[in-house]
Amino acid sequence: MTIENKVALITGAASGIGRRIAEVFAAHGAHVAVADIQRDAAQAAAEAIRARGARAAAIAMDVTSEAEVEAGVAQTVRELGGVDILVSNAGIQIVNPIEQFAYADWKKLMAIHVDGAFLTTRACLRHMYAAGRGGAILYMGSVHSKEASPLKAPYVAAKHALIGLAKVVAKEGAAHGVRANVICPGFVRTPLVEKQIPEQAREFGISEAEVIKNIMLKNTVDGEFTTLDDVAQCALFFAGFASNALTGQSIVVSHGWHMQ
Ligand code: NAD
Repeated sequence: MTIENKVALITGAASGIGRRIAEVFAAHGAHVAVADIQRDAAQAAAEAIRARGARAAAIAMDVTSEAEVEAGVAQTVRELGGVDILVSNAGIQIVNPIEQFAYADWKKLMAIHVDGAFLTTRACLRHMYAAGRGGAILYMGSVHSKEASPLKAPYVAAKHALIGLAKVVAKEGAAHGVRANVICPGFVRTPLVEKQIPEQAREFGISEAEVIKNIMLKNTVDGEFTTLDDVAQCALFFAGFASNALTGQSIVVSHGWHMQ
């Protein structure tokens, strides 16, 4: 099981979970394409990885743009020599009760999580099939791929959708040696989560400490946040697994929140 000398394209890799996955993959010998809508931050993340002696390319990509996804995957293939692993990770959060949810916000969130996953998958599969050397596709799901929480209608819907997409990719990709799996983390302290703490405190009329203790970590076995490295290690395991034995699956990494 190794990702050494594989080319990995990671979306949303300028920050948080995606950035850590890029760093860990590079440390295990992969060549990484750091794709993000934040061009400068992607550049900085790629430079930091190159400074540690690995190969990395910065890819400016809005995952909701068909043209930018096609161009970004082509750039990855050109600069790093192919694409063997896709981590479809870019994401946002918008919280509101359904009756107050703006349709524009619903569509924005669905576009980044679901359209982005489709567009990056399609572009990478075309290269993987043509190259004939198999591949691994990972989707960044969430415990919200399996569970619901109030205020998160499009996020929960989108994260459930990724499991369906992964199952189809697993079935279609098998003949080409392409596997597809979903990682479902609990709460990880990234900018995406830091933003939600005051928002939820306001919505529910409770303190920020109560949001953390009584909402975010309430159903964990030990009241602990999941870490960037916990998620990156799961990604490493899925990406390096060498056969179709592990495909179409999802793994929950959440300190026991949602046991299956
Ligand atoms: P983050 O905000 O730190 O990083 C998200 C990255 O996605 C940012 O760099 C942002 O610029 C990028 N991005 C946003 N829109 C984009 C677009 N249209 N095109 C390209 N890039 C775009 O957040 P994070 O917590 O690291 O989240 C990463 C993924 O992990 C998301 O899919 C999120 O839903 C998922 N997730 C996070 C948690 C958590 O607790 N943090 C838990 C479960 C799942």
